[in-house]
Amino acid sequence: MKKLNAKRVRRHMLRTFEFWQLDEKFLIISPDKKLCTLTGMESLPESDTGYFGYAYLDDTLRVAFLGFCNEEDGTYKYFDADQVLVAQAHMLPTMLVRVVKPTEELVKHPFVRGVLEFHQSDILRRSTLALRQIDHLRDPLRPEILKAAWIKDENKLERIFDDSVKVYVDALLTAYEQAEKDGIRARDVEIEGEPEPPPVDAMIVEFVRITDLTPANNGTWRAVLLDDISGTRKKKKGDDVTLSLVTTTIDEEERSYTMLFIDVDAPIEDTAIDVTSFKPFRLPWRIAYTLECPDCNFKNTYYLGRSGEDRLLFKEIIEEIRAGRVDPLIAIDLVQRDDCEIDFSRELYRCRSCGTLDVKKRVRLITKDHTLSMMYYCLECGERMSHIKRGHIASLDCPRCHEQLNPVEEALWDGVDPN
Ligand SMILES: [Zn+2]
Ligand SMILES: [Zn+2]
Repeated sequence: MKKLNAKRVRRHMLRTFEFWQLDEKFLIISPDKKLCTLTGMESLPESDTGYFGYAYLDDTLRVAFLGFCNEEDGTYKYFDADQVLVAQAHMLPTMLVRVVKPTEELVKHPFVRGVLEFHQSDILRRSTLALRQIDHLRDPLRPEILKAAWIKDENKLERIFDDSVKVYVDALLTAYEQAEKDGIRARDVEIEGEPEPPPVDAMIVEFVRITDLTPANNGTWRAVLLDDISGTRKKKKGDDVTLSLVTTTIDEEERSYTMLFIDVDAPIEDTAIDVTSFKPFRLPWRIAYTLECPDCNFKNTYYLGRSGEDRLLFKEIIEEIRAGRVDPLIAIDLVQRDDCEIDFSRELYRCRSCGTLDVKKRVRLITKDHTLSMMYYCLECGERMSHIKRGHIASLDCPRCHEQLNPVEEALWDGVDPN
């Protein structure tokens, strides 16, 4: 049995988790004799200590049984020859699981690597799974299927309203001209029948199932229709369609609701990414910091900063983005906006759980109205890492023994990463 170093989080019934709390996470599964009696699971070896699994979304949420696990002493062991048994999560009996964060060591399992590679190749479709505000529109079993609203005759209703406004304005102008001739003051002129927008209940709203929701250029969204839309022949089941995502805030309830609206007339936009490198006003200092522990033998040098435009590193980052190794919300902006710039610099990060120190590229997406920072996770335990500001580097704790580290050297370096 191997020691499980990954950070373990909440323990709950499998069914009480949302799909996004489990997707791409490992699981400690409590022992249950019933599991081996399920169809397709007959070859699952019995265990008194429990199983080690991996949860991932593939149409529905799946649980792959990868091996045995003993929660008490925190150890695990894969089945022989990397044997894997996969079950749909909703077919599994009520079972207690503990979520385990993915670490560098755990994601080396060939099955898990396969899932992650497939997910990365599908980054645009998967990016919208990170939009919590549309969770209420998702199919409970198949979260990639959503309900979108279509307003029947939306354009026609708009046109009728616009026409009635025009008729009213024309009548008003004629009345003013007449009034001038008759010597009547303009403010005494009264015209009845000021038009109002059509009442909400005059609109026929139909809900249609869509799938493959992805961000698209010019701030749009696109998806594939899973149903025909009754009342229009412009789009049918299987067609690509453009959508808008609209959030309305209701002040009295202090809540906001988000809806997806289908626009059958809008052109289908492309999903290409256009990005430039951000030119910082002042470049981050390129300094190598050497830290040493006074108690144990920990000593390391961290090469931080960025060398001018650093085209090589920028190219690396763009390749990572194209390979799908990017946070979903950053991917969405990159597709939808044409004002995206990428800022980056090698900077020091520290794990919020185990204190491991690591240099990351600190990729930030900068647009006219906001900045999004890439999130980085600890390779040792899977917990999120925090960026360490340069001024705090001199007061860090040793990741091994937690004694305060001594900053022994600060030196300029040439920008060619020696690691
Ligand atoms: Zn850690
Ligand atoms: Zn130490």
